[in-house]
Amino acid sequence: MNRRHDWREDAACLGNPVEVFFPHDTLASDRWVQAKIVCKSCAVKRQCLSLVIDLDPIDDKWGIFGGKTPQERIKERERRRNDVRKNAQSNYR
Ligand code: SF4
Repeated sequence: MNRRHDWREDAACLGNPVEVFFPHDTLASDRWVQAKIVCKSCAVKRQCLSLVIDLDPIDDKWGIFGGKTPQERIKERERRRNDVRKNAQSNYR
């Protein structure tokens, strides 16, 4: 029996230390550098980011997903909301 392939199996972060993606020192200015390097070459970056963007923002405060930090994901949600709003407005014109 073939099992369904899960995109998470292609994640570039597999096997990396968890601390790289969920740093203990959340105030260090370079805390995301290593994770961003890994995420940059990840084949499933888009899926990873979408999974987390669809979460309630209140639950999305830690870690890096899709190459984006929690603060960057706040901006990404805003950008996506604006795109939806613009598309909806252009459909009514
Ligand atoms: S984009 Fe997501 S799945 Fe890919 S390496 Fe980064 S955290 Fe892991």
